[in-house]
Amino acid sequence: MAERQQVIVIGGGPAGLTAAIYAARANLSPLVIEGYAAGGQLMTTTDVENYPGFPTGVQGPELMQMFRDQAARFGATMLSVDVTRVDFSARPFRVWTDDTEYEADAVIISTGANAKWLGLESESRLRGYGVSSCATCDGFFFKDKDMVVVGGGDTAMEEALFLARMASSITVVHRRDEFRASQIMAQRVLDHPKISVRWNAVVEEVVGEGLVSGVRVRDTVTGETDTIPTAAVFVAIGHEPNTGLFKGLLDMDESDYLVTTGTSTNIEGVFACGDVQDTVYRQAITAAGSGCQAAIDAERWLEAQHSEPAQTLGTTNN
Ligand code: NDP
Repeated sequence: MAERQQVIVIGGGPAGLTAAIYAARANLSPLVIEGYAAGGQLMTTTDVENYPGFPTGVQGPELMQMFRDQAARFGATMLSVDVTRVDFSARPFRVWTDDTEYEADAVIISTGANAKWLGLESESRLRGYGVSSCATCDGFFFKDKDMVVVGGGDTAMEEALFLARMASSITVVHRRDEFRASQIMAQRVLDHPKISVRWNAVVEEVVGEGLVSGVRVRDTVTGETDTIPTAAVFVAIGHEPNTGLFKGLLDMDESDYLVTTGTSTNIEGVFACGDVQDTVYRQAITAAGSGCQAAIDAERWLEAQHSEPAQTLGTTNN
């Protein structure tokens, strides 16, 4: 027998937990199925200095614990297991974990996205100690230092241009001899006096004991290696939204992000918020903001369902 819930939130980062706080305060007793990696990307972030309300900064995991405590205080239930399958083809919607089947009147998806990494041991060892995937979050720690940005897409260009405001120099390391980025962004990087580019170069190792001191790169044409001294390495080779569960069920863009209008997906009653549907901002505060919106949208939608005659299941055409 499936457990019936009014609202199930899938994913427990800033978006999902904010949705849970708002849904709980609307008396919807949300169940948050957070996943085994509860807390999202902030769990692997050390100092968060741009979350409003924390003038001296806060540790990522500490911030997420506060979100959880706040959601729990109003009656949200958190479950640190993964969702294994969903069925949105009929109402109530169905959501499975390994050992339980749930039914939900409304679902809020906030499964987030993960930065892609190069996959080097030295990269993961020094993450948070000079290796980062977020210039907006971490650039400031390396003010007036030399920095490296890895990648050749628009994200890499954007990160390099942002960091150039505070760095003494930026080296963009790209594995080919031309950028993938849009012409206009690429040109801005090429024209910037503080930014230089290492073409045809792959990062073999992030160098440093305790803190980053350089990156060892190999020239793909000559095969030669050398080390670029740097205090920080910003890996900007793309993001991957966590949408595998929803393939074929929900509309996605060409990079597999959920397509939303506001927070509505193409299935009425299924909402999405946070990085899983955001290719632009990707900040904890914007994720939290959209989580709030999703909960309000879900609450209003549920309210409308109760006050209207039974409807047949349909998809929104927006
Ligand atoms: P992209 O997939 O566009 O680019 C990724 C870049 O990283 C490519 O240059 C790729 O190299 C490189 N790369 C990938 N894997 C590796 C690896 N293992 N080692 C070294 N280099 C690697 O991702 P983005 O995040 O840059 O952009 C995603 C989407 O978001 C795009 O559509 C982009 O236009 C959009 N965007 C738009 C912005 C804007 O308009 N302001 C800002 C940011 C993103 P290669 O080129 O050789 O494949």
